[in-house]
Amino acid sequence: MDLYEYQARELLEEQNIPAPKAIFAQNSHEVAEAADKLGYPCVIKAQVKIGHRGQAGGVKLAHNRDEAILLAESILPMTIHGHKVNGVLVAEAKNILHEYYVSISVDRTSRDYDVLATANGGTEVEEIAREHPEAVKRLHIDALGDFDEAAAVDMSNSIGFYHADVHQAADILLKMWRCFKDNDATLVEINPLAKIGDPDDESSKSLCALDAKISLDDNAAFRHDGWTRFADSIEADPYETKAREHGLHYVHLHGEVGVIGNGAGLVMSSLDAVSGAGEEQGTGIKPANFLDIGGGASAAVMCDSLEIVLSDPQVESVFVNVYGGITSCEQVAKGILEALDKLNAAKPIVVRFDGNAAAEGLSILAQAENPNLHVAKTMEEAAQKAARFAADAKENN
Ligand code: GDP
Ligand code: MN
Repeated sequence: MDLYEYQARELLEEQNIPAPKAIFAQNSHEVAEAADKLGYPCVIKAQVKIGHRGQAGGVKLAHNRDEAILLAESILPMTIHGHKVNGVLVAEAKNILHEYYVSISVDRTSRDYDVLATANGGTEVEEIAREHPEAVKRLHIDALGDFDEAAAVDMSNSIGFYHADVHQAADILLKMWRCFKDNDATLVEINPLAKIGDPDDESSKSLCALDAKISLDDNAAFRHDGWTRFADSIEADPYETKAREHGLHYVHLHGEVGVIGNGAGLVMSSLDAVSGAGEEQGTGIKPANFLDIGGGASAAVMCDSLEIVLSDPQVESVFVNVYGGITSCEQVAKGILEALDKLNAAKPIVVRFDGNAAAEGLSILAQAENPNLHVAKTMEEAAQKAARFAADAKENN
């Protein structure tokens, strides 16, 4: 589960990580009240679970009450990169002298934790890593190990925090580590971790978290009362909610090709194949969702899955990728036909079957003679076809 910035800040505050005073607000009246309380200038920040808000016009400086209200009225109705703004954070404005990036995350490749830090903060770390790979310092923490003060000081020295900041930087890194462990997080990121203060007064300078991004490990929710304090104000994705009601593992990704498969690994490869095809074809077509029907799925499960995927208006084509093991491709084929009958769907569906009852499944699909059904022999071929259909449909819209 990803948290909004205003929620992530609560967790940082619990560890006493310095951050500007801030108040969450959901309408222009609340914004004016909050801004009056914090004083001017203040920053009005869109609350959406996506980065690059600044570049998208979602982070603005207000110098007085009228400006705060105007900005609230322009930011609150915004949709940023497909995400509806869920409120704004009104925060004390700080004089930024320098922006750093620091994060702690789970590294699935090396099966441990990663501390990343760079003195080139402000932009997204992917961009920093692309443009200044040498500037991004990485420290692995053993999965069963700990991150201690000596390691934190080393890390701070290595990214070149100006001398006086090293101990405060190390202290913040250690507090981030506590925050990460205590909350079963998969990511705790501060960007920018800003050096603030008066440029001419050395003693006024200090580090302060101006933005916070935290993701929590859903598998640990039971250890934290289900994180109800965060769930309440989270505007649930309607497709994800519907999928959960049906016991399906669905993640909404906002592209054009619906993807359904069995097994998380196969579905993830399918997502990559679709993105790859979109890139290769120069259309920028992307997967619309992740949907894993799991092992031993019945025709009914396949039918529910297609119904949910096709109810997303952004979906222009669907890629069904099933490797029959416990799951029988014959059952899946029946589910597809059931869904097509029920939904009267006119979007192209590209199917790739392999393994258990693949031949039977393909022959059931062939007998249906439905012009929207297409088959492919390999995952790559299927992804290419589905991406092409989606691009053509998008062009004709
Ligand atoms: P993001 O674009 O979604 O990462 O949003 P951030 O919260 O990181 O804000 C984007 C940028 O706005 C930061 O990198 C800062 O340069 C700027 N910003 C944020 N808060 C302040 C502030 O209090 N004072 C000043 N001067 N700039 C700020
Ligand atoms: Mn940021």
